This record gives sequence, structure tokens and C-alpha cells, in this order.
Amino acid sequence: MKKAIGTLILAFIFLSVPAQQPPFYKNFTVSVYARAYEVRDMADQKKLEETWSLISQQVKIDKIYLETHRDKLIVDEKTLESAIRFFKSKGLKVAGGITYTIDESNNFETFCYTNPEHRKLAREIAELTAKHFDEFILDDFFFTSCKCDLCIKAKGEKSWTDFRMKLMTDAARDLIIGPAKAVNPKVKVVIKYPNWYEHFQGLGFNLDAGPGIFDGIYAGTETRDAVFSDQHLQPYESYLICRYFENIAPGRSGGGWVDSGGAFFLDRYAEQFWLTLFAKVPEITMFDYRQLQSQIRFGQRAPWQGTQTSFDFDAMMKPYQLADGRTVYPTTIARAAGVTFDKVDKFLGLLGNPVGIRSYRPYNATGEDFLQNYLGMIGIPMDISPVFPTEGKMVLLTESAKFDPQIVQKIKDRLQSGKNVMITSGLLRALQGKGIEDIAELTYTDRKAAVTDFKAGWGGVSKSSQEIIIPQITYLTNDSWEEVSAIKGASGWPLLHRAQYSKANLYVLTIPDNFSDLYQYPAAALNRIRAVISADMPVRLEGPSQVSLFCYDNGTFIVESFLAEPVTVKITGQAETAIEDLVSGESQQGTAVPVPPFMRSRIEPAQSFEITLKPHSYRVFRIQQLK
Ligand SMILES: [Zn+2]
Repeated sequence: MKKAIGTLILAFIFLSVPAQQPPFYKNFTVSVYARAYEVRDMADQKKLEETWSLISQQVKIDKIYLETHRDKLIVDEKTLESAIRFFKSKGLKVAGGITYTIDESNNFETFCYTNPEHRKLAREIAELTAKHFDEFILDDFFFTSCKCDLCIKAKGEKSWTDFRMKLMTDAARDLIIGPAKAVNPKVKVVIKYPNWYEHFQGLGFNLDAGPGIFDGIYAGTETRDAVFSDQHLQPYESYLICRYFENIAPGRSGGGWVDSGGAFFLDRYAEQFWLTLFAKVPEITMFDYRQLQSQIRFGQRAPWQGTQTSFDFDAMMKPYQLADGRTVYPTTIARAAGVTFDKVDKFLGLLGNPVGIRSYRPYNATGEDFLQNYLGMIGIPMDISPVFPTEGKMVLLTESAKFDPQIVQKIKDRLQSGKNVMITSGLLRALQGKGIEDIAELTYTDRKAAVTDFKAGWGGVSKSSQEIIIPQITYLTNDSWEEVSAIKGASGWPLLHRAQYSKANLYVLTIPDNFSDLYQYPAAALNRIRAVISADMPVRLEGPSQVSLFCYDNGTFIVESFLAEPVTVKITGQAETAIEDLVSGESQQGTAVPVPPFMRSRIEPAQSFEITLKPHSYRVFRIQQLK
């Protein structure tokens, strides 16, 4: 009995240790952003204690951004200082934030940077923020959509793109960074760019000059719902935009940022977080302090729940104990973020650096908007680079590469040095008559075809689930060859085409008029495309679309399905390997890929592994060398 009481007392002492302190995770920092409205309300200490307790018991938070301005609301300095003290006392890192909007509810009305009053206000806000913080971040809105008479006059003969890029580059230096550093020389000023990178230049974001002026950059990684939300962003972008930004500013791309808007099921909310983390970002930010107080609704439980998917709604809803012994009953979406971070942190450190097929996007270019994200969704590991890649066996060029005036020469140089190039049909069209015919005489015609049948290599004909409209590309017989064909009736056209030049091949990938029709391509066609484009990847995927593959440079990889039903796919890699599931620890032996006898001298022996994925779920693997 005495011993039992002693144990109880010991247990009591152990349980009454203060709450765990940051840093909470091994592989990333978790931040929350608080808008000026919520920071203003932090003047009420009792309410602040309550909201912080509600959020922080459901998700572990290392850092908070306190916004000083949004929609002409400037938080008073006394409130700012007491909020800073409060969060520092909880062990958090504290940084500032600014949203340069006049009225967010009016189509995100931005400041007018030709208007002297707005310029003065922009500067004062930067100075105020630098006075209270050693680091601050600009939320999405440091661009301008203003077309007032002052702006029309100032623009003159320039394009809106050229006018706004110069206006905003100057404003960044003269109104934000310069004045902030004059007040606080230590201050680190970070610009968070939104998720619509393809259109930045038109609104004044300059990915060429900006990252050199600011101390750091940050990525909006919310992709919401591709169908129902206006931007129609593909889920893969939550990962790829982080990779792109890391390639733009190596070591200075600070993290990814997700809000809870536009995602119908809670799975999508969690998925955006883990896709961002798959890019190995140092920090993840949850927008925002108010949204994290949103009640979980049962309608957010997806139909595929109850089948042990990567996001497990029912497990998330279970009560749990804090270090001080209190029992918590999950109530808000903060818990969905919390369980996601706990789960991903367990394996993220085992992954190397992300690798993918390099796609070149010259600075401030546009064309075939966001196409690389659709390619990511058909199981091609993608990477976007602002520099033309001269290394590697393959590079992918989309229409936006036409913004580089030297592009044809760069393609030729690569081919002559024995390295392949794949261009899209959109780039072929843009370069017609501009020198591409010097490599191969291919014609992007103005004729279209509605196709349902596809033929890849020696395989038979496979069918798409619906008609797909593609451009008809023509070529000269025996000058270049169809690798994959699209067929309608008794006619056919290239879907993947190969033209030999010097020591390598130029491939042309036909992109359907509706990019998401790529998801309708049958597996046989996708497999052939993936095999050709993945020459530099350690493994490749075989199977239907909407399953993505994420590769790392240490032989680890992730396979994720975005489908609503379970799916079986194959992973193909080197011969004499096995794969280990890094979450379950189980090893899996593969089967040798059959090669026709006459191809044995030309094809490397390979091993393939069949794996099953639950809906909206991922699995993490390591390649094991058997010899
Ligand atoms: Zn204006």
C-alpha cells in the first residue's frame, strides 16, 4: 500500500511537469500566422489564454507570426507588445507579418504604389513592424492590381507587366526593406509569394529580382480543390512550388503555407501539409489563428474513411492525454494539422534531397500554365528550375521556355552533347519558324483530333475512358518516329514522338487541349511516357494517373494516390533490389521484368514491385540493394 502511494506521488510529480516546450519536431518548424484582426483581439488576455489553450493542445506550435496590418487596420503597439510577451513566455519564436491590402473583401484590393498617400502608409507600416520584430513576412498581397488613373498615366507605353514589375521592385527596396532596416538593422524581411507563380509578373511579383532583394522567400502551398475552387490548382503543386522556390533561392526558401479554405474533406487539408513537407521545407505555416479554431464538422469525413487511409479521421477524433494529464477531446481543425505533423516527422528525416525531372521556366515566363503540376499528377517526378539544365539525361521544356531567346540553340547544344530533350506540343508550336525545324521538320497543325485509342510500342491498343481532344502533329516518314500514338478511326498522330539529332533525341510530348485529360490517358501510354522521361530517376511508376511519385537522392521514395478508390501500381527499379516500407519496416521482393530476347542487349534488367495504395494515401519506401 505504502509503495502504491509512493508510486502515485511519483506519478503525480512526473505528470505535473510543465507543458512540453518548442521545438517539437525533428525535421521542421511549425508556425501559425495571426491576422491583424486576431492580434488586435489579443488585447483581451483572458480570451487570448482561452484561444491559445484551445489551439495549442491540439497542434504543437513552435513559432507565431503576429500581423501588424491588414485592410488599413493597424494593431496598436501596446497590444503588439503584450502579445509578443505572451507567446515568448510560452517558449515560441515570435515574428511579425504584414498584409498590404486596402480591402481584402473587395477582390483583394491592393495598395496603389503610384499614390503618394498609399506609399507613405506602406512605409510607415514597414517601420512600425521592424520596430517590434527582428523578422517579418509579407503575406500574399505585396503585388498591385491597381488600374487607377494615376497608374494608367504612370504606365505610359509600357506593358502592365513591365510597369508593375519595376514599380513593385522599387517599392520593395524603397518603401519596405530600406525603411525597415533603417529602424532595425537586424530585421530579416521575408516575402511570401502566393500559389499562382505562373502569373506573378503581370501583377508585379518579380521572381528574378525579388529573391535577391528580400532576405528570404516563402511559398503559398494551398491547392484546395482542383474542381470546385476558382484557381483549379492541382494537388501536386503543394510540393512542386516548394521545389521551384528552393531552386530559385537555394537555402533561403523558408517554407510552405497552407490555409483551410476550399478543401471539402479534411483529408485534403492534411494532404496539403504533407505534400509541402515532402519537399523538405524547413518550416510549415498554418494560416491562420482564427481558422484553427474552426469546429470539425462530420461532413468533412470523406467517404473512404474507415479504411486506414493516411489521414485517419476516426483516429484523429479520439481523446488523448497531454503531458500534464489533462484529457483533450479534439474539436477543431487544428487537430488534423497536429496528427499530420506527428506522423510525417517520423519518417521525413530518412529521406534525402528531393529529385525530379528538371523543367526549365525562364524568369517571368508564362505558357501552358501550371502544366508541370499536371505532369506530377500522372506519376512523373517533377522539378522546376529557373536555369536551363545542362546536366542529366533528360530535361522537359514547356511552352514557357519560349521566353528564352536562346532556347533553340540550348536545345541543340544539349542534343549534340548526347543528352535528350523533351518538349511539349505547346513549345513546338511556339518555336515553329524560329529554328526548331533545324532539328526536325515537325508541324503543329491547326487540326485537332478527338481520340480514344492509344498504342505504345509492341503492346496492343488501349482505350481512354473518354474522348480526348489533341492537336494533330505531322512529321516526315523516317525522319522521326512515333513512340506512342493516338488513334481515331483509321488515322493516328504522335502522342510521344522521337526525332534523332546528333548524339541524342528530341522528344515531343503532345499535350491535350484540356490538360487534365492527361489523367484519362490509359496506363500503357502513361507507362511508356514515364519510361522515356524518367531516365535519371532511380525508380519509375507504372499504372493509372493521379498517382504521384516523389524521389529522393538517397534511394528513398514516396508513392501517393489522389484517387478516391484503392489502387494497385507497379514500381520499377534496378535488378537485384528489394524495397522496404519505411513506416511498417516490411521488406518486399520484386519480380524480374520480362524482356523480349531480341531486346536483351538494349535494355537494362529491371525489377518491379506491386504495391497497393489506399485512397488519398501515401507510402514511403527505401530501395535495398540485394548484391
Ligand atoms: Zn493606382
